[in-house]
Amino acid sequence: MTRLQDCRALDAQDPLRALRDLFTLPEGVIYLDGNSLGPLPKAAPDRIARAVREEWGEGLIRSWNTAGWFELPQRLGDQIATLVGARPGEVVATDSTSINLFKVLSAALSIARADAPARRTVVSERSNFPTDLYIAEGLCRERGFTLQLLEGEQIRSALADDTAVLMLTHVNYRTGAMHDMRALTRTAHAAGALVIWDLAHSAGAVEVDLHAADADFAIGCGYKYLNGGPGAPAFVWVHPRHADRFWQPLSGWWGHATPFAFTPDYQPAPGIQRYLCGTQPMLSMIALECGLATLLAARPLGGMAALRRKSLALTDLFIQLVEERCEGYGLGLATPREHALRGSQVCLTREVGAYAIVQALVARGVIGDFRAGRPDILRFGFTPLYLRFEDVWHAVEHLREVLSEEEWQRPEFNRQHAVT
Ligand SMILES: *Cc1c(COP(=O)(O)O)cnc(C)c1O
Repeated sequence: MTRLQDCRALDAQDPLRALRDLFTLPEGVIYLDGNSLGPLPKAAPDRIARAVREEWGEGLIRSWNTAGWFELPQRLGDQIATLVGARPGEVVATDSTSINLFKVLSAALSIARADAPARRTVVSERSNFPTDLYIAEGLCRERGFTLQLLEGEQIRSALADDTAVLMLTHVNYRTGAMHDMRALTRTAHAAGALVIWDLAHSAGAVEVDLHAADADFAIGCGYKYLNGGPGAPAFVWVHPRHADRFWQPLSGWWGHATPFAFTPDYQPAPGIQRYLCGTQPMLSMIALECGLATLLAARPLGGMAALRRKSLALTDLFIQLVEERCEGYGLGLATPREHALRGSQVCLTREVGAYAIVQALVARGVIGDFRAGRPDILRFGFTPLYLRFEDVWHAVEHLREVLSEEEWQRPEFNRQHAVT
């Protein structure tokens, strides 16, 4: 049986333990929702205040040049590239995940139409995050493609002569299950299809190597594991073999080869820059830079490999403690036990009361979230940058008490809120 002192010993040996100091975490909170909204980097409030006061207030429009605003999407893109196995100049931070998916799926459909006009199907996963499916549904309808939604092993076997694009999210938002990016990309390419990976739950959470996997397109989220703040800019990567082919459909002036020539016709910039549309939100970009700095601070300590090692140790510990200490309370495990198939979260299932249990935990300062389904899911994200092994112990103790004392049955924990 694991004990509290064992968890404390793991913290004492943790080479990443100092990174927790980079964050402002409220007293008494165990934050297990960094997979939905990363916490506040300690440096962010002053940095943002300085950007407002000096760069905006004093520099005014000059700051587009003097404060490096104009190149910020590329500069942040280069930082993100180091986390996902892309090269400098291949990534930009911009817009939202949904919008970036629209751009890359549209470009992929144009490439498929030019190279293989008989291919009319986009394959994705039924349990993919809904916005990805909605964007694909809309684009397929507009461009005359068929969206085929499948689950599990069916995906691999469906890839055929008519598949134009395979579009998947690397780590599933509900279950934390992770696809084998390299193997699926290889299978899709062998079938003649292009592959788009959504890294919303992978970038900054697990090791990703887009070039080793030979992926075609990738997008990802800035406000989850990248700690960029609510609604932070997302990112987009396109393999250099595709980046100069076709305009993306949002052909705005920031994607123009010479935006300040103000010509009446559109000439796309070379490479990833054409995936920019219009003027980018500088204050949000500056907040995202503070978030990325927390991940880059892990580099001298082993970078993503060290973060991944600790993430797996945290999720292993959580699973083990739940099984040791919460046995007999009807909890199931939706997340794969096998490391190669697991992202950085653990999802528990329960037939009844999942929503109320999450609410009762939140009231105790243990913040996870709830996802409806069959069965319902209690979702816990584990971010190795700031979580301690001791936090995992206490989170499970709170869960045990909520269950053993039937605290979740109280009416105040059974009222629905708008955002779950
Ligand atoms: C979080 C998430 C998104 C978010 O999209 P927004 O455009 O930021 O709302 C998209 N896709 C996946 C898979 C996600 O997990």
